Amino acid sequence: MHVYIHIPFCVKKCAYCNFYSVALHDAKSRESLSTLAEYTNNLINEIKLCADPTLFFQNILPSTLFIGGGTPSLLPLKSIRKIYDTVLSGFDINEISEFTIEANPESMTLGKVFGLPNTGINRISIGIQSLDDDILKFLGRIHNRETGLLALQLAFDVGIENISADLIYGIPGLTNQMLKQDIETLVNLGVKHISMYSLTIEEGSKFWENVKQHNLTLPSSDKLAEQYYSASELLKELGFSAYELSNFALPGYECQHNMAYWLGESYLGFGPSAHSYHNFSRWANVSSLTEYNALIGGGKVPLAFKENLTPIQQLEELIMTRLRTLKGVNIFEINSIFRDTIIENAKPLIDNGILEIYQNYLRLRDNSRLLADGVAAKLITAVDNEPN
Ligand code: SF4
Repeated sequence: MHVYIHIPFCVKKCAYCNFYSVALHDAKSRESLSTLAEYTNNLINEIKLCADPTLFFQNILPSTLFIGGGTPSLLPLKSIRKIYDTVLSGFDINEISEFTIEANPESMTLGKVFGLPNTGINRISIGIQSLDDDILKFLGRIHNRETGLLALQLAFDVGIENISADLIYGIPGLTNQMLKQDIETLVNLGVKHISMYSLTIEEGSKFWENVKQHNLTLPSSDKLAEQYYSASELLKELGFSAYELSNFALPGYECQHNMAYWLGESYLGFGPSAHSYHNFSRWANVSSLTEYNALIGGGKVPLAFKENLTPIQQLEELIMTRLRTLKGVNIFEINSIFRDTIIENAKPLIDNGILEIYQNYLRLRDNSRLLADGVAAKLITAVDNEPN
């Protein structure tokens, strides 16, 4: 089982982002610090309220903890430690094998980074996004190349060697060469894991408005694919495996927490908008911070919805998530009611060189990885239309 903690605060909203987060502007102000302290207390109360192993997860103990956001690195060190301790005591365990925090370079100050190893953290995922100052400015990020590189160096200096960097591709003005240079710089510095996401235009973001007003044009899908595959090729040459569509790691540095999502393992999420999954049931917390604080303050679970997945939904979940992985879908994991139909539906895609079957796993061929969502939808749509 895996635990996710959401920290819904950022200094400023980036131009492309529609994640649920509240802009604090001055993270060091007395007001911001008291907002963060109140939120940490509520999180701790939520963990205490739900972490009772008899409630959801009998005999299943957490093996990974991931603090994501938002900008979790805005949290004071003592709050991070408090969250860690609450998870350990709530589930009555002594340690967590992988404890990741997401961090943004501007909040990785010397004092903060030096204290991180004492909080239990053994993995950092840094939102580098690009090493080009113009691109960073365009994205609305508040750090620059120098701050990004310094944050990485500090993290290595304090002995955290399991470091991941996020990069964004498909940005207007970003050439294949620029992206490859960024990758080489990060790998030369010692980064062991790279997450590479394409720029998407999300409703509610500043870019969404820009596109609507015809002030922003994105690269074509062909250019996007060319950029992704040329960067993937370089990462492969550098010893990284594309263990998931957007995630590349040196052997042994795959993110165990994220793998849990793609392999359908149980996870429990805390904080506003956090999702949970267990035994073919999924549920989510309310998205609003105000509502969340009020519910927790009143001793209530901040649940927004809970649903039990139907056999078709379970199949959708299985195909959509596993196809994103290098290994693919284990054919024998597919419910026998649907298995023959899925294999039948896969045949034309196998003939076209998009899919292949390897050691009982149905998987995308290397040059078709970006088609994961579309291929999954094709396989499933045909089943959806079948009476069952
Ligand atoms: S730092 Fe991350 S979560 Fe915060 S606004 Fe930017 S992209 Fe969104």
